[in-house]
Amino acid sequence: MGEREVHSEARAGEPFGTQHGTRREVVTHSDEETMCVGREIGAGLKAPALILLSGDLGAGKTTLTKGIVSGLGAAREEDVTSPTFTLVHKYEGAHAAPVYHVDLYRIVNFQDFETLGLEDVFAETAVVIIEWSEKIALDSQSPTIRIHLEHVDEETRRITISPA
Ligand code: ADP
Ligand code: MG
Repeated sequence: MGEREVHSEARAGEPFGTQHGTRREVVTHSDEETMCVGREIGAGLKAPALILLSGDLGAGKTTLTKGIVSGLGAAREEDVTSPTFTLVHKYEGAHAAPVYHVDLYRIVNFQDFETLGLEDVFAETAVVIIEWSEKIALDSQSPTIRIHLEHVDEETRRITISPA
């Protein structure tokens, strides 16, 4: 795993991955490494939090989410599956805040989006992870982290984590 901090500017009290207001860039070489980055992010998160994931199909958004949900203690990696068709999955660990995993890929218009009831989800003290978040302008008061995933080659992904 290669890692570098792209810029730094002190800012206290931000969720993991964005400490000191830094944008952090990690390069992974397997899905296991991407899950490991996710676990680290999840372990440092406190609800309420909003994680906005962007990147092409197959970039690793769901794989990273498996790690985040596991790091939060809400479910095991193998139990986290893509909400491609169901649109929203909820995970609740015994000692963890609820985690919502949302996939907006199949959302065509704002009316579709409204049927998801995300406003109620945003009102909860939860961790909300959204794939294809760039499709809709989202309005949440929660501390937000943006994570962009890019294909470098078949097994290599560049993951950029920044405070919103
Ligand atoms: P998305 O949700 O962005 O569409 P997925 O996480 O569902 O992407 O799929 C990523 C695919 O890429 C999986 O088949 C995974 O095994 C593969 N892959 C290969 N290398 C990596 C890597 N470094 N990180 C994450 N996934 C990887
Ligand atoms: Mg996905």
